Amino acid sequence: MSKTTFAVIDLEWNSALPGRKAPKHAQDMMFEIIEIGAVRLSPELDVTGTFHSNVRPVIYRRMHRHVAKLTGRTEESLRSGDRFPEVYRNMRSFVGDQAILASWGHSDPEVLKSNIEYFQLEKPTSWLALDLQQFFSAIAEDTPSKDQRSVEFALDFLNLPKDLPFHEAFSDARYAARIFQATLAPFKVSSNEENAVRYMKKIRPFLYDPWVNRQYTQTLTLEKKDEPLEILKKATFACPACDKKLKIVHCPLTSGWRVVKQRRTWFASGRCTTHGRCEILAKRNGTKDKSYLSIRVRLPR
Ligand SMILES: [Zn+2]
Repeated sequence: MSKTTFAVIDLEWNSALPGRKAPKHAQDMMFEIIEIGAVRLSPELDVTGTFHSNVRPVIYRRMHRHVAKLTGRTEESLRSGDRFPEVYRNMRSFVGDQAILASWGHSDPEVLKSNIEYFQLEKPTSWLALDLQQFFSAIAEDTPSKDQRSVEFALDFLNLPKDLPFHEAFSDARYAARIFQATLAPFKVSSNEENAVRYMKKIRPFLYDPWVNRQYTQTLTLEKKDEPLEILKKATFACPACDKKLKIVHCPLTSGWRVVKQRRTWFASGRCTTHGRCEILAKRNGTKDKSYLSIRVRLPR
């Protein structure tokens, strides 16, 4: 069996211009990747290669000013680079089959997934993912902190140099790789073989499957006589990941459906036998004559 390697990735993406909506056929791709940076690490966390590529967008070809400000990219530069399918093919062969995709936060794997799906490309389902932001907080700060630490905070915390530009895919990937190495450095011993085992033991509890669907939305139309709470109690909901019917959890505080805002918002906890707890949130929308419930079912991390 080939050994698992790590690919620390950072993506930059563009979106619809302010006030404009995504075109209908692209609504599942709200963010289109315009740049990919990656650093490959061995099981012992030594750098074994780097990858950097601009992507020429096909949907959001006008530069969003927020993206321009953050990344320093120009609209001109959006016309450079290859199309996503080609860059993705190169990235896949760079990363390899048995890999753990590490990124700061969990947005990058989500955006990667939506772009792969939009272009109808094959997903490398053998890849797992690691959220370095969460990993850093748990291991280096020793707190299950839900504060979303910035890369800059982590660099300061670990006394690492800030000698690269920020918000550039390639340097952000290199920064994240350094944070990853420094977070595990205290566990290092002289044997390389032993290091790989020790690191994996720390990492394993934080791994997740980046390809699982974690959320869907649905709407239920309400007739005039309908009582939303009654409709919700009668409706069935499915797990976003496996489509299995969710069992509504009856806790003292929720006792099934809970009214969050009178006549407006309702909440329930559902349970999938495979994936665990799901949040079901229902909101009433529409006019007096025609109203409906927008329901979001979400599998939290
Ligand atoms: Zn499930």
